[in-house]
Amino acid sequence: MLIVKIFPIYTYGFEVLRKKTKRITKIDDKLIEIAGSMFYTMHKAHGIGLAAPQVGLDMAITVIDISRSEENKKIKTEPITLLNPVIKDHHGEAVMEEGCLSIPYVRADVTRPATVYIEYQDLDLKTQHVEMKGFIARVAQHEIDHLNGVLFIDHLHKDEKKKLRPELDLIRKGEIEADYLLAEITKKTKPKLSAQRR
Ligand SMILES: [Zn+2]
Repeated sequence: MLIVKIFPIYTYGFEVLRKKTKRITKIDDKLIEIAGSMFYTMHKAHGIGLAAPQVGLDMAITVIDISRSEENKKIKTEPITLLNPVIKDHHGEAVMEEGCLSIPYVRADVTRPATVYIEYQDLDLKTQHVEMKGFIARVAQHEIDHLNGVLFIDHLHKDEKKKLRPELDLIRKGEIEADYLLAEITKKTKPKLSAQRR
């Protein structure tokens, strides 16, 4: 029997969000459970994408479901699980506002390619190729970034990031609340503020 649960979300400041994730080479019940729990956690938090580092896992897996979003009313898109995704090619440029379950309340316009060609493995570990454009391409790029330790705020101009600094500091110190479960900042994971300010 598969057990699906809600994972706590790791927020800005946790090291796990800054690590490049490990490739997935084996599909077992544990991985299927993780994928199911990631979808469940994402839906409960009203998210549209969730990557493993956001739930504290060092694995190259992300789940995406934009079917309940406003932007999806025109084009219907099925939920998708991407294992080991890589952007092989891209074109165009688009600006869209982004947010992140790991960076609550912070939103900013981010410039990214408009169309991406992604190679990934599905839950049978079969290699697939997909072309994505529009909103789904945006979400996929954000999530693939997570698997490489990159956050959307890293794409901002430094002046713009500076403006977000007070909010980011509060998140890093755990002085925020969200309407979904957050990972607790313990003594061990407490960020060294001075060290990170360099
Ligand atoms: Zn995110």
